[in-house]
Formats: sequence, C-alpha cells, structure tokens
Amino acid sequence: MTSDYARQDGNEEVWKLVLIEGHPLLLSKKKRFGSLPSDPRCKLCIAPFSGLGGWALRTFKGIRQSKRNPLFCNACDEFLKAYPGGTDTPMTMMFVDIRNSTGLSADMPAREFMNLVAELRNVALDAMAKTDGSVLEFIGDGVVAVWPPGIAGADHAKKGIAAARRLQQEVGKLAPRGIELPIGIGVHTGEAYLGTIAAASNDIQDISAFGHEVNVVARISAAAGAGQALISRATCEAAGLEHDPADFMQPELKGVEKPVDVLALT
Ligand SMILES: [Zn+2]
Repeated sequence: MTSDYARQDGNEEVWKLVLIEGHPLLLSKKKRFGSLPSDPRCKLCIAPFSGLGGWALRTFKGIRQSKRNPLFCNACDEFLKAYPGGTDTPMTMMFVDIRNSTGLSADMPAREFMNLVAELRNVALDAMAKTDGSVLEFIGDGVVAVWPPGIAGADHAKKGIAAARRLQQEVGKLAPRGIELPIGIGVHTGEAYLGTIAAASNDIQDISAFGHEVNVVARISAAAGAGQALISRATCEAAGLEHDPADFMQPELKGVEKPVDVLALT
C-alpha cells in the first residue's frame, strides 16, 4: 500500500506464531506496556517512548525508540531486522477516513484542517488501543487498523466492531465549528498477507497488509456515508453479532466483482 516500500517474504513460521497463534513474550509485553504513559508508542509491542513509562523503560529495561526505525522500539526493530517476512493472516480490518475532505479543507484554513486530521488520528489511536487493535498506517486523512488473532485474540471481530462503535461516539464529540466530523468506517474480516515491508532507499522497515480483502475493506469504508460504520457479513458472523438478515445491503464496491453484504452499525 505504501509506495517506495517493497514487500518482504519469508520466516512464515515466526510470523504465524506472532500474528495467528500469539507469541507469549509479545503478548505479555503488550499487557504490561499498554497501561504505561505515554504516546508515541512502538507499533508492535506498544512500549511508550514518552512520559514516565518511556523514561522507566529506557532507564531500567533499555527499551527505547529505535533510531533506525522510529515507528518501533529497539527490541521490535531487532526482531523485524532478524525476521523479515510475514504470513497470510485471517483477521479483522478497519478503514476510516474523512468524507468530503476536499470540500471540508476548502471551507477552513489549512492549519485547522490539519488539526482536525490530527485529532481524528488521536481518536483512532485511542479506539484501537482500547480494543487491542493495531494501527497499520495513516493514509492522507484516513486510518488503517488490523486485529490479527495472535495479537488481538480469538474475538478479533468483536473487537473490530467495538472499535467502530467507539470511533462513532468519540468522533461525534469532535465538532469543529459546530460541524460534525464526517467520517466513514468500514470493518471486514478475511485473510490478507500481513508482513514487513522495506524501503529500498534507506534502512527503514514497516508492517503492512496486502491482498484482495484489504481492498474490500477500503471499498466498504468508501461506501459508508458520513458518520456511518458498515460491517461486512463476514465480520458480523465471526463476531456472533445479532442482526436481522433483512438489514444487509450490497453497496456498489468499485473494483470488487463479488457482491459483499454489509450492515450499518446502529
Ligand atoms: Zn516494540
């Protein structure tokens, strides 16, 4: 999804353990680090880089923001360097973006619009953190998050839906100039390749998702109206969400041939 980065393959077994089965060390780190202040955090183990937590980890554990790869801590960066690759992961995914961002940005000063996008990011980061989701990347004024079972647990679909509900509520509170921030949310469960990508030009690695189901969730989000969260049938079923089958609709999804049933979260 990110240009200038190339997908890396390999180390399937290691990534299956991390992303699908759950690596005991990573899970215990996530549990311990989650409650420590403060953001920004390592994208993988959520070790805080700032605040009291960041100071304590630097001082007593030698865990700090990687200089080479600032999205990750030095321990996770070593891991990515040692085990480049990934695996096909059955997981829940979410796309969120600001609707009509061109119109909105034309109606307000650039700085104000930037602040708005930054606020959306913070709200999204918080919603993902509270539901064991991982923010994969920020694309323009949108956010991509995933719930791989090895990190989020077997109830990843439920957690993805919980994050959508939380986002809907929290975004409602961000009301720039009295206008409600028009975001569209798409949630979908399916298999996608999750793994490391590397920038050819410098020594930076990141984690990204690839595959048809990633496009499907992006298209579902694009089909959502302002303030709407659309949940795919696959996610509803994986989460055991009670629903009336008559409530499903099949929006036109650009580039997706097979019809996809979605439900608007109420
Ligand atoms: Zn880390």
